[in-house]
Amino acid sequence: MDSNKYLSSLEYFLNKMQSSDDTFTAEVQDAIKDLCEILRIGAVKTMFQSNHYGPHVDPSTIYYFYKHELFSEENSIEFRYATLTDNTAVYVIFPLKGQSEWTEEEKHRIKSICDMLFIFNGRTRMIELSRRLAFYDPEFKVYNLKFFHRFLASLIKDGSIYEYYTLNFNLKQLNMINSRIGRNNCTKVMIRYIELINSKLTEKEALCRLGGDNFAAVIKAEHFPDISELLLGTTVDTSDICEESVRMSASAGLYKISEQPRTALTSGEIMDRTHIAMQKAKLSAKAQIVEFDQELFEMQKRASAINSAFDDALAKEEFLVVYQPKVSLMNYTISGAEALCRWIHDNQVVSPGLFIPILEQSNDICKLDFYMLRKVCSDLRRWIDNDIPPVRISVNLSRMHLKNPMLVSQICSIVDEFSIPHDLIELELTETINPVEFKELQKAINGLRKNGFATSVDDFGTGYSSLNLIKEIPWNVLKLDKSLLPACGSENVWQDRILFKYIVAMAKEMGLECVAEGVETMEQLQLLSENNCEMAQGFFFDKPMNVKDFEDKLRDRVYTI
Ligand code: C2E
Ligand code: MG
Ligand code: MG
Repeated sequence: MDSNKYLSSLEYFLNKMQSSDDTFTAEVQDAIKDLCEILRIGAVKTMFQSNHYGPHVDPSTIYYFYKHELFSEENSIEFRYATLTDNTAVYVIFPLKGQSEWTEEEKHRIKSICDMLFIFNGRTRMIELSRRLAFYDPEFKVYNLKFFHRFLASLIKDGSIYEYYTLNFNLKQLNMINSRIGRNNCTKVMIRYIELINSKLTEKEALCRLGGDNFAAVIKAEHFPDISELLLGTTVDTSDICEESVRMSASAGLYKISEQPRTALTSGEIMDRTHIAMQKAKLSAKAQIVEFDQELFEMQKRASAINSAFDDALAKEEFLVVYQPKVSLMNYTISGAEALCRWIHDNQVVSPGLFIPILEQSNDICKLDFYMLRKVCSDLRRWIDNDIPPVRISVNLSRMHLKNPMLVSQICSIVDEFSIPHDLIELELTETINPVEFKELQKAINGLRKNGFATSVDDFGTGYSSLNLIKEIPWNVLKLDKSLLPACGSENVWQDRILFKYIVAMAKEMGLECVAEGVETMEQLQLLSENNCEMAQGFFFDKPMNVKDFEDKLRDRVYTI
C-alpha cells in the first residue's frame, strides 16, 4: 500500500467531511472512493441498531457510503459504536471480491476511517437537531418565524420570490371550539388542521407558526386554490380525539408577490404587508381572506399614526364630549342624551368613525370610554350643583371591555367619585353573536343593572339582531339603528314599515324602552308615533352639540315642531 497516496486521500476525505454539513453528500462519497480503492474495500455500509428493542435495525438508517459492484458479502469486518441516543451505530466494511485478507495495518486504517465516519455522522445529527430546535415549532411540527424569515430571504436572494404568494392566518372560533371539546382536544384538532395544510406544501414552500394560533405560509401562486379551500373551512377528522366533528377555518391576509412590480422587498416588508391584510380579514364580517393592496397600506399608516398619537392626546385632553339629545315623543321634551366623542387634533375635528375602529383593535378604546364616562360625570355634577335639571346620559362602551372582570366595579368607582346617582347613567353596548362574548355581555349587563345603571343595545338591526340577545339579557333600552327606519323612496317601504312595527311591538312587550336613532324627517317621526316608539334621537331634533349648547337645551327642554 502506498502510504503517501493513503495520507493525501485521507486528508482530502477529511477536508470534504469538514466542509460539509452532511456526511451523505456526493462530494464526501467521491472522497471516500479513493480511500476505499487504496484499502481494497468493496463497500462501506452503515446502520443504526435499537438497543431498546434488541438487535432491531431501523431500515431507514441503512446506507452505503461506498459500494463497488464487485464487493463480497464474505469476510466483512464490523465496528460498533454507542450513540448519544443509546442506540448502536454499526459500520460494516466489505472486501472486494477475490482479494487477499487485509493486513493488520490496513485493518487499523479501516477502523480509523470508521471512527471518523462515526464522529462526522454524530456532528451531522447534532447540526440537524440544533436546526430543529432553532427553527421548528416542537408542538405543531412546522417551522418557526426565524426560519420563515430565512426562507423568505433565500427566495428574495435567488429572485424566485416573484413566483410566490404569502399568507398570514389566524384560526377562527377557537374560543367556541375550546368550550365545546376542551382545551387539550382543541389543541390536537388545531395540530391536525395545520398538518393538513402543511401536507399540501412542497419542499419549495414553507409554513410556520408565529405563536398561539397565528401562522404564516409562503406558497407558489398556483397552489393558492388548494390552500385557500382549507382556510375557508374544512371538517377535520377527529374520530380518535372526540365525539363531535369539528370544522376549522381561518381568517387570512394574502400578499400576491407574484403580481407586484418587481421592486426590492425585504422579508420584513413582506411579512408586514401580509399581516396588515390579515388584520383586516380578522375584523371583516364578510371577507375571510383579504388581499393586501395599496389602500390598505395607507389605512395602516393612518392607523399607526392614530395609535402613536393616542396616549399623548388623552393626556392633553384633546377628546371632547358632544351631546345628542334623545327626545320623548309623548311631550317633545329632552328625556336623555347620548355622549359622543370628538377628537380635536391639529385644530381639526376628527370624527369617531376614523379613530374608534382603530382604538378598538387594542385596549386604548377602554381608556377612552372611561375618560368619556369621567367627563360625563363631571358635567352631570356641575349641572346638579348649578340647579340645571339633569337627564340620563348614555355612554358608549366598546365590547373590548367585556374581557375586563372588574368592569362593573370600575364604572361604579368613577361614577361614585362624582357622587352621581347611578340611574342618571346609561351604558350602550352593541350586539354579539360569539357565545363566549355573549356570556360576558350577559354578566356585565346583569352587574350594571344590579348596581342601578340603565343599559341599552346600540345599533340594533345592523348586526345579527338576535332575539336571544334581548330575551336572555336584561336590557332597559333597545336602540333601533337608523337602517331600520323606512326611508322614503325605498322600494320595499311597506315591508320596512311592517318590520319596524313588529320590532317595536316586540320590544315593548318585553318591557324595553325603544329609541329610534337617526331620525331625520317628519315622516319618520310620524311613523314612530304611529308605532308607539317613545323616543327619538336624530338630526330632525338636533345634531350632537357641545356642552355649552347642550346646557342651554337642558334649561329650555321643550322642542316645538
Ligand atoms: P352610535 O353610538 O350609534 O352613535 C350614533 C351616531 O349616529 C353618531 O355618530 C351620531 O352623530 C349619528 N347620528 C345621530 N343622528 C343622526 C341622523 O339623524 N342621521 C345620521 N346620518 N346620523 C346620525 P358619531 O358621533 O359619528 O359616532 C359614530 C359611532 O362612533 C357611534 O355610533 C359609536 O358607535 C362610536 N362612538 C362615538 N363616541 C364613542 C365613545 O366615546 N366610545 C365608543 N366606544 N364609541 C363611540
Ligand atoms: Mg351609541
Ligand atoms: Mg347607535
